[in-house]
Amino acid sequence: MVVELLCAALARIRLDRQQGGGGARAAGSAGVLPRAWRDARARLWWMAQDLGRDWPGNDLDLFNWCRRPLGSWPVALSLADGDLDAVLLEGDELSEFAEQAAHLVRHADVEAELVQNQIFTALMLCARTNGGDDEAVQQIYCRLRRLLIDHPVLSDREVMKLAGELPAADSDQDAFCDKFIRTAYVHHPVHRPGKTRLRRCTGCRNPIDDGAAGCGTPGCTTEPEWHEVACLGGYWVQHRAARQFFHDPGLLEGRLLDRLAELTGELVRTEPWPCLDAWDAALRFKALAPHAGEECWVIDAKDCSSPGLLARGFRIDLRVPAGRRIIVVPMHRLKAPGYLADLERELQGRVTGVEVLDERTFLRQATVRANQAGEDR
Ligand SMILES: [Zn+2]
Repeated sequence: MVVELLCAALARIRLDRQQGGGGARAAGSAGVLPRAWRDARARLWWMAQDLGRDWPGNDLDLFNWCRRPLGSWPVALSLADGDLDAVLLEGDELSEFAEQAAHLVRHADVEAELVQNQIFTALMLCARTNGGDDEAVQQIYCRLRRLLIDHPVLSDREVMKLAGELPAADSDQDAFCDKFIRTAYVHHPVHRPGKTRLRRCTGCRNPIDDGAAGCGTPGCTTEPEWHEVACLGGYWVQHRAARQFFHDPGLLEGRLLDRLAELTGELVRTEPWPCLDAWDAALRFKALAPHAGEECWVIDAKDCSSPGLLARGFRIDLRVPAGRRIIVVPMHRLKAPGYLADLERELQGRVTGVEVLDERTFLRQATVRANQAGEDR
């Protein structure tokens, strides 16, 4: 994603230059750079921070890196092995690779992807500025991720309560929590304080417009219901990018985390989004033998219509040492004939050491493994 953003930005800069703007040579003044560039740079900066590095230094620095092979960059980019030798700029011109990537982006929902990026950045900022240490940052990160999954709609009362618990603000007294809400949600004012009735889906809790038959969420078939939101001046509804990239795919993550939380804590501990989202969850099972170590499984919950695209975008993150690495697919994807077999085939040659299980099989295996530890005593 970050590479595609950069390519889209470079293509945009070239267009501006052709139309007589400053372009790449005016790179020093941030005002003329497209939003995609700034978003990509912010994303790279956070990735580098995770590795304990301060990078990229400035826009010019990043332009220079665009002339070097992507595989040599200080952060690991999600790319096929064949693309690691690619550069984005050859001199001042876009490389063929960058042209093609920029072309792909033009056909995608660029605006939603940009907002996704901004939500991610705002969430990270809120977690980092409010968390005193790594553990606190991780906790707030998980809390905000869970908020996006559980609350497609928030009342302003709920937002105020959250802001009270996460008070860190910038030098203009603008709280990072409020910035996060403003990025991920859209405000709807109400005429007077009180309860506002909204139609929503019972299953995924997404709001349903008047006249719409259902929620349109993949795999969700539940009925609409009326829902009351207690507001002072208004309520917040998720931006479509928050729904597309965090809420709807997160439903499976939330469901798995809830089910795993029901397993006995003595037998297995579940860590949601370990290392700020290296995986969706790490499961630490109690050792089977007295002197054996605990056993760790990491999982990634993936609700994707295309096994090919899922496999193309999938990367193994080695920051969490694990005995099993599992992609968990929701049951509704199995309705597509051969889905799991296609996914396994697409993954072959791209990644090794990752298994694919459907939601039910995974939960059954996790329960059996947890209980084995229990029988031992
Ligand atoms: Zn629904």
